[in-house]
Amino acid sequence: MNRRRWMVAGLVLLLAAGGLFHLSRQRCFSLILPSFCRVETAEKIVALSFDDGPTEAGVAATLPVLRAAGAKATYFVVGQEAERRPELLRLLLAEGMELGNHSWSHVRMAGVTPGLRPRRSTGPRP
Ligand SMILES: [Zn+2]
Repeated sequence: MNRRRWMVAGLVLLLAAGGLFHLSRQRCFSLILPSFCRVETAEKIVALSFDDGPTEAGVAATLPVLRAAGAKATYFVVGQEAERRPELLRLLLAEGMELGNHSWSHVRMAGVTPGLRPRRSTGPRP
């Protein structure tokens, strides 16, 4: 490959890397599915969401309050927790709540710097 082609390839790679970096910095970005990050409305509304469940204690603490207020919320569940407690998912859905994905196994990141980020096991290799 001659020098000009290398320069063009380098420029294309640089632009692609810059574009991907710019996309990764967006507050509302999804590569695969559509994202809803903003809803235009004249109403004064609040969106309630709960993370890291479902747990018995979390659902027991929040669901009666929501029910009494006639309010709905989104529960962002961790896959491992959801697998352990599918009855809580069914209960939340029966109560009209929405479920969101909050990863399969939520690694606790408080106090962890990028250099100390724990490595995650992906299971046995096929
Ligand atoms: Zn979380």
